[in-house]
Amino acid sequence: MEIQNFINGQFLPSVSNKWLDNYNPANGEVYGKLPNSTKADVDNAYIAAKSAFPTWSQTTLEERSRILIKISELLETHLQRFAEAESIDNGKPINLAQTVDIPRAASNFRFFANAITQYSSESHESVGHQAINYTLRQPIGVVGCISPWNLPLYLFTWKIAPAIAAGNCVVAKPSEITPMTAYLLGEICKEAGLPKGVLNIVHGLGKTTGQAIIEHPDIEAISFTGGTTTGAHIAKIAAPMFKKLSLELGGKNPNIIFDDCDYNDMLETTIRSSFANQGQICLCGSRIFIESSIYEKFKKDFVEKTKQLKIGHPSKSDTQIGALVSKSQLEKIKNYITIAKEENGVVLCGGNEFTVENFENGYYFEPTIIEVKTNTCTINQEEVFGPVVSIMPFNTEDEVLQMANTTKYGLSATLWTNNLKRSIRISNQLQVGLVWVNTWMLRDLRTPFGGTKASGLGREGGFEALRFFTEAKNICIKY
Ligand code: NAD
Repeated sequence: MEIQNFINGQFLPSVSNKWLDNYNPANGEVYGKLPNSTKADVDNAYIAAKSAFPTWSQTTLEERSRILIKISELLETHLQRFAEAESIDNGKPINLAQTVDIPRAASNFRFFANAITQYSSESHESVGHQAINYTLRQPIGVVGCISPWNLPLYLFTWKIAPAIAAGNCVVAKPSEITPMTAYLLGEICKEAGLPKGVLNIVHGLGKTTGQAIIEHPDIEAISFTGGTTTGAHIAKIAAPMFKKLSLELGGKNPNIIFDDCDYNDMLETTIRSSFANQGQICLCGSRIFIESSIYEKFKKDFVEKTKQLKIGHPSKSDTQIGALVSKSQLEKIKNYITIAKEENGVVLCGGNEFTVENFENGYYFEPTIIEVKTNTCTINQEEVFGPVVSIMPFNTEDEVLQMANTTKYGLSATLWTNNLKRSIRISNQLQVGLVWVNTWMLRDLRTPFGGTKASGLGREGGFEALRFFTEAKNICIKY
C-alpha cells in the first residue's frame, strides 16, 4: 500500500520520490511505504496553505461547521475501514480502534464544528473614558500540527479539527510509524468538500519533515504531541522565532488507591488504566500506590486478573493486548525490565516477550507488574510507555502525595477513595494537569487538557484549543 502526501487537495509522492517502509507490528513485516518528505514538500504544503487562507479565514462559521460535520459523518460511515487500517498500522486490538480511536476522531470534528459556532469574544466598556474595547479572536494563518503514533488518528484530528474550525490552514505531519489513517483522512476531507489547501498532510521523519515544519519561518504556531525530549527540541527552535507553541508531552502518572474505594470498580479500571493500548497511552497510570491495609489483597487480585488478559493478533475480536508499535519500542521495554530487576524490582507477572502462533515476528510483550521498593527507582521515574506498571504500598496521605509529586512529569493522576474531603484535598495538591477520581480516561471534550512540568506547555480541548489557534486583538474605540 503506497501512502502519498496530501497537498493542495492532491495526492502526491514526495518531491525527491524517496520512500520509507511502513511496518505491520503484528507480524513484523513491511506492508507498505510512505513518502520520505523533505523541506521541499513542506514548502509546497505551506504555499498551498497560505493561498487557501484568505478565503478559508473568511468562510462563514456555518459553512466551516457544515464541512467539519460532514468529515465527522464520513468517518463514522467508514468506521470499519479506518479501524482496520489503524489496527494494522499500530498493532492495537481492532476492538479498541472500533470503539475508541475512530469514534473519537469523528467526535473531534463534530465537537469543534459545534464549538466554533458558540465561541465568542469579549467587549469591555471603559467607563468614564467614553471608549469601548472589543476583542477580536482571529485565525493565526498557517499552523503546524505534529502528532505521535500511539493514538494516531485520534490525536491527529484533536489538533486539526480546532485549527481549521478556527479558520487556519494547516501543514500536518502524522507519525512516520503510523501514517495510514492520516492518509485516508485526506480522501474524506476531499469528499466532504474541504477546500484545497486548507489541510495539507506531509509524511516523513521527525528529523527531516517535522524539522522543516518547526523551522519554517512563516508557520506561526505549532501544536505538538509526543515525547518530552522532542518537545524540548521543538521549544528551542520555535521560541527564538516567537512561534505560538502547544506541547503535549510524556507522563509518569500515579494511580493512588485508598482502602475505602469501590474495590471491584477500582480493580477493573486499574486493569484498563495500566494496559489499554498495550500501556501506550500518555494517560496510563504506570505508578500504582496502594494503601498498605489492602496491599496484599490488591497484589493477588491484580496479578490474577492481569494474567487473564488475552494477548493476541490485533485483528481478533477477543484480543485485549495486541502488538507493541515497533521493534524499537519492544527493545526499549525489554531494557526497562532488565533495569528494574537490577534495581531489585520483583516481577510479579509478565516481563517477557510473547509469541503469537503464526505471527512469530510480531512485537508482542506480556502485561507486566513489578513490585518496587522505592519511588526513586528508574521505572518509577522514566516513561516506559508500554504494558509495564509498578506497584508499592503507602501508609499515609502525606507520604503518597509526596511520592506522586516526586517526578519530573505532571500529566495526570487517578485517585480511588470514597472520602470526599480527602479526594478534594489530594486533587488540589497533585502537580498535574488532570485528575480522575474514581474513574479513568473519562473525557469531556470541553475541558482543558494538558500537563505541567515536563509533561508540557499550554492546554488544548474546548475553548482552550480555539484560544490557542486564534490570536486575540484588542480594539479600543473612543466615542
Ligand atoms: P516522538 O516525540 O518521537 O514523535 C512525535 C512526533 O514528532 C512524530 O510525528 C515525529 O515524527 C515528530 N518529530 C520527531 N522529531 C521531530 C523534530 N525534530 N521536529 C519536529 N517533529 C519531530 O513521540 P512518539 O514516540 O511518537 O510518541 C510517544 C510519546 O508521546 C510519549 O512520550 C507519550 O507520552 C507522548 N504522548 C503525549 C500525549 C499527551 O497528550 N500529553 C499524548 C500521546 C502521546
